[in-house]
Amino acid sequence: MNLTDTAAPLQESLLTVLRHVLPAKPFIPLHEPEFAGNEWNYVKECIDTGWVSSVGKYVEEFERRIEQFTGAPHAVVTVNGTAALHVALVLAGVGAGDEVIIPALSFVATANAVVHAGGVPHFVDCELDTLGIDPVALRDYLERIVERRSGNTYNRVTGRRIAALVPMHVFGHPTDIDGLLAVSKDFNIPLVEDAAESLGSYYHGRHTGNFGVCAALSFNGNKVVTTGGGGAILTGDPEIARMAKHLTTTAKRPHAWEFQHDQVAWNYRMPNLNAALGCAQLERLPDMLKRKKELAARYRVALSAIKGVRFIDQPEGCDSNFWLNAFLLDTPDMALRDRLLGALNGAGFMARPTWGLLNKLPMYTQCPSAAVTNAERIEASLINIPSSPGLVGNSDAQHG
Ligand SMILES: *Cc1c(COP(=O)(O)O)cnc(C)c1O
Repeated sequence: MNLTDTAAPLQESLLTVLRHVLPAKPFIPLHEPEFAGNEWNYVKECIDTGWVSSVGKYVEEFERRIEQFTGAPHAVVTVNGTAALHVALVLAGVGAGDEVIIPALSFVATANAVVHAGGVPHFVDCELDTLGIDPVALRDYLERIVERRSGNTYNRVTGRRIAALVPMHVFGHPTDIDGLLAVSKDFNIPLVEDAAESLGSYYHGRHTGNFGVCAALSFNGNKVVTTGGGGAILTGDPEIARMAKHLTTTAKRPHAWEFQHDQVAWNYRMPNLNAALGCAQLERLPDMLKRKKELAARYRVALSAIKGVRFIDQPEGCDSNFWLNAFLLDTPDMALRDRLLGALNGAGFMARPTWGLLNKLPMYTQCPSAAVTNAERIEASLINIPSSPGLVGNSDAQHG
């Protein structure tokens, strides 16, 4: 059998599904932001009043609204999600030379944040259903490689301390948090959630980002809610929240006019202009989530009729934001994947593969890694398809 013979019917079925589910347009991006509420009013107010930068009412307002939406006791907003994760790791205790367990299947920012915090990424495998870190494989792996000394957990092979475990909720689907929290507890490794993709996603009724020491959100342009660029640190610990604010605002001691700083810190504060956009976006999040879920439901039904693919659905007991819809080929096959990607993109439906695995990126090949066979399988079989909320008709959007 040659590739053309086997792939042609699958390719045709997928194009039929996308034509059926999506509106008729020359090109449909993967994820477009939607500005249909108070965005313009709030941003204009910043410009009209001159409060565009590091002082202004929207920063605090946005933080309170994030707390309200996620149920997190404390939110501290930042310039982007990478910065939020960087500082979250520092606050969880990651320091120079520490190893941090992260999934091989993630966006590069997860690994970069570890290095920015002085650490070394240590890659592990994922599950085939949630796409997040596999807690069973992780426990088994750690049992083989770690040793405990004076309350800390060390990698016996490298001699480095393992200072944090960073699960990521892939494409918005909550990962097996209970399983990972048990590993975190049993091995005494603090858990920090990379919740960059999962605003609006719930694990057994509780919003993601509320399970570890702290968590990071992202408001990049392609995420569910955007501030242009932005992020947030979530935590239940008031002292961590206080330090998060301090470290992201140059460690300036509060004073009416004096400039006094008490440690080396970062200028990671989110500008008022971006926070204004965020406040308006958050007001429309429930409506955007409703339409994203409707889109996912249409894909679920349409893709279930195609043999050879599986729609990636929300895990049992979870409520996902369906940030990016995706399907898996039953048989991992990079050539087939790329042929289908070519056909979908060629027909005006933006589709993309998942990230190249982090353990294979040139700057990370020397880092420790478990066997990542599931991640490799997913890399060779996953395709993301258009997921913007605007692809499902909305009643209350104002255009112009
Ligand atoms: C988007 C994202 C981030 C943060 O990205 P920024 O662009 O810095 O906001 C971190 N981790 C994951 C998994 C992401 O998808």
